[in-house]
Amino acid sequence: MDEHTRRPVAATLPRLAASQPPAPPRRTALSVDANHCALYGLCEQEAPDVFTLGVDGRLRYPPAVDAERVAAARQAARLCPMRAISLRDQP
Ligand code: SF4
Repeated sequence: MDEHTRRPVAATLPRLAASQPPAPPRRTALSVDANHCALYGLCEQEAPDVFTLGVDGRLRYPPAVDAERVAAARQAARLCPMRAISLRDQP
């Protein structure tokens, strides 16, 4: 193949993009500011699949939530009276 028969790079891009594996599901980082959390438990009531208030008085939650649970986590963040819950989308 000489220089005149090569295809422009841009012409090959759609084909390359089509052969890429699907993007992994997006996840959203979750954190609770322990200095502000007053352990009211409203987040657990709103999103029991995300937050658990233990009998030891500790709030447990995963470091990130998947797309299925992010809406409930966002609603819990909106309802938290201490504004202690933070969510940050990850690429
Ligand atoms: S609702 Fe807010 S203050 Fe209450 S336990 Fe959850 S994070 Fe803490």
